[in-house]
Amino acid sequence: MIRLETNLPGFWGELCEVIRLFLGAVEIRPDEGDELISHAHAERDGQWIERFSCGTHAVEHTAPVVRGGLAEKRQLKRAAKTGCFLLMREITGATPPWGSLTGIRPTRLMYELREQGVTGEAARRAMRETFFVSPAKAQLLSDILAMQQGLIDTPDTEYDLYIGIPFCTTRCAYCSFASGELGRGQLVEPYLAALKREMALDAALMDELGLRLRAAYMGGGTPTALTALQLDGLLKEANRLFPGAREWTVEAGRPDTIDRDKLQALLDNGVQRISVNPQTFSDETLRVIGRAHTAAQTVEAYALARSMGFGHINMDLIAALPGEGEADFLRSLNRTIGLAPESVTVHTLAIKRSSRLHEQGYVQADADAAARMVDDARRALGEAGYAPYYLYRQKYMAGNLENVGYARPGYACLYNIDNMEETTRILAQGAGAITKWLFPRERRIERAPNVRNIGQYIERVEEMAARKRSLILGKEENKHD
Ligand code: SF4
Repeated sequence: MIRLETNLPGFWGELCEVIRLFLGAVEIRPDEGDELISHAHAERDGQWIERFSCGTHAVEHTAPVVRGGLAEKRQLKRAAKTGCFLLMREITGATPPWGSLTGIRPTRLMYELREQGVTGEAARRAMRETFFVSPAKAQLLSDILAMQQGLIDTPDTEYDLYIGIPFCTTRCAYCSFASGELGRGQLVEPYLAALKREMALDAALMDELGLRLRAAYMGGGTPTALTALQLDGLLKEANRLFPGAREWTVEAGRPDTIDRDKLQALLDNGVQRISVNPQTFSDETLRVIGRAHTAAQTVEAYALARSMGFGHINMDLIAALPGEGEADFLRSLNRTIGLAPESVTVHTLAIKRSSRLHEQGYVQADADAAARMVDDARRALGEAGYAPYYLYRQKYMAGNLENVGYARPGYACLYNIDNMEETTRILAQGAGAITKWLFPRERRIERAPNVRNIGQYIERVEEMAARKRSLILGKEENKHD
């Protein structure tokens, strides 16, 4: 256990995040612990001075004082985190690939640099020197920005639609989503009725505001855990209420939930993009992580979707799954590339606190091995003609790495970019779905989360739609004051 003392208690949580970059999920307390890390912040001659020490180690980081509101808070936090990073790097000798960055969206920093006129090698150098990001990760960010060019400038009049289906056939051991096992399926019909009610209320609101749909995405959960009839009914209602999607994605993640009738329902309703997710091609690992399908079923489902004419199939893989080494991951990667999907998303296993793996006390894989798997993916997918187009990071990821979406030219998913870069309003429906309402001129986002519990969602759907409506309408009206 670590004891952390700081005279900037408002940043205590952020400093803990930096310490955990080096020490993993260690317990950190302000009042007790076997090792003491102290932080003393001071200001002198226009400089902030951040002194950190632990035992015989001590570092001092200085940064010019910035005055005024949010910028001051942000820069001060950055100075304190940098000091903490330098101390931990000295103590451990480790160099995390993302340096001192602990946030979900490192691309955002690159976009900020671009706005300041800093691009190309100068931007990569700034990422390396300011945040200690590795050259490879700085290059990855550059490549992603290049892929996103022309795709993220959404007109102010557009929004994306997210529809959540929080049911799965079984629960994956790493899952932390608001998904329930289907069980006997008693909740499905009442859930779909509530969902359609929320969709209708939201559609009326979009009409009032005169906004147009850009991309639609049905996720979960596993939407294809529904029957073909249920899927068809839901998609018909979605298309009636929200016409004109430029892109329609449905996650068909579990290969064992896919059949010809369900795929036909998707095609009949204009869905062009689906995800068929192997995660791994090892049957043993699939069993360990609680997915009720085999690698052969993944191949069959993929072949069926292809033969029926789907033009964009995405496949998800996870690096650093329990018991898997680099060779296992490479095997899955090569099998995936061999199937030639239009896009591949490479996740790094994150052991969230609400997951079964966490409850079972599973210890995260070796960070270096996880880093090599992610590097292998970048190299092999690059050689096969895929380029990275979006990226996000999560807490508790193996090696503090990242999730990256790769796509062949012309196959980047608009919704994934919009959602991750937060450049488009996301109107979300369903249990646990989070509406993210963007106010472009103010560069601000308001979130309206729906309750995660399925029963509660069914009971309180009107209330949630009304809350969303007043949040959106209130703010949209204020915008014109
Ligand atoms: S398929 Fe996705 S939502 Fe369903 S249990 Fe697995 S991780 Fe969770």
